[in-house]
Amino acid sequence: MSYSDTSKLKKKKTRSKVVTFPSTQRITCPECGNSKEFLEVSDGVILTTRFNQHSDGSFSQELDDSQVLGQVKFYCGDCGADLTQFHKRFLEMLF
Ligand SMILES: [Zn+2]
Repeated sequence: MSYSDTSKLKKKKTRSKVVTFPSTQRITCPECGNSKEFLEVSDGVILTTRFNQHSDGSFSQELDDSQVLGQVKFYCGDCGADLTQFHKRFLEMLF
């Protein structure tokens, strides 16, 4: 891409409100271009939830203690492509 092409692109972008991060920092599905929805799938998970029973017999949740024993996979939420290679970056950007 030449310099003049770049300046043309910049003019186009001023019309939209997007572009907060450089595109290199965002995870984009190489299959379908989706950069919005993603799935995290954990294998072999033990879900342990601690409940307290009150005097009236009702319960309230105290703790959610989950253990992942298997692999954690990362998928595109749109086409289902395996994006596990981006999972580390996903965790770094998760707030
Ligand atoms: Zn996709």
